[in-house]
Amino acid sequence: AGIGSQRDRVVPEGEWLQKWEMGNIGFHKEQGHPLLRKYLDLLLNGRSGLRIFFPLCGKAVEMKWLADMGHRVVGVEVSEQALKEFFAEHSVPYRVEPVPGISGAKKLQSTCGNISLYCCSIYDLSSSIVGKFDGVWDRGALVAVNPCDRQRYVSLMITLMEKNSSYLLVAVSYDPNKHKGPPFYVPESEIKSLFG
Ligand code: SAH
Repeated sequence: AGIGSQRDRVVPEGEWLQKWEMGNIGFHKEQGHPLLRKYLDLLLNGRSGLRIFFPLCGKAVEMKWLADMGHRVVGVEVSEQALKEFFAEHSVPYRVEPVPGISGAKKLQSTCGNISLYCCSIYDLSSSIVGKFDGVWDRGALVAVNPCDRQRYVSLMITLMEKNSSYLLVAVSYDPNKHKGPPFYVPESEIKSLFG
């Protein structure tokens, strides 16, 4: 039971795509996340014109906020529907291109170039494809990856970070006996050991 039973849980990619198709996206926050507003200064740390990464981005509205503040935003998401909805809902024109080096992947990029959203699995990315980032907004990402993939996910994230980058992580605390996840319960001690 508890954390033990979540540890073996695997949510196949098809299940995520289906959530998007059914509009079963209770995780999406139309008004953005209050914790990003609260800790924005910590993410930016006085810097401007940053490259900011949104792993498992969905159609997070914060991508538009940060782009409007003059930052360059990169996201990755398996659901193309989510990415199309993002651009449509913010009336941002975009183009679609293949991604050299990732077969089947697409890049949806705003016409003015400041928002680039990759439609593929995060595990397909590497710094040679997307470069490195000055900041990461991880909400609904570490807590959404399959528990068996957490170390792989975090190790990849570390390779995508510039030296002085900041990483804002939102985790949720609850009794894992009462909900099967996602979001999964990732204890603080595990977060510390994952990131080292
Ligand atoms: N961060 C977003 C979405 C959270 S829900 C927000 O805050 O609203 C998690 C999202 O990750 C879903 O949209 C799902 O389709 C996507 N996803 C799941 N596994 C993925 C993977 N391996 N690579 C990329 N995206 C993935």
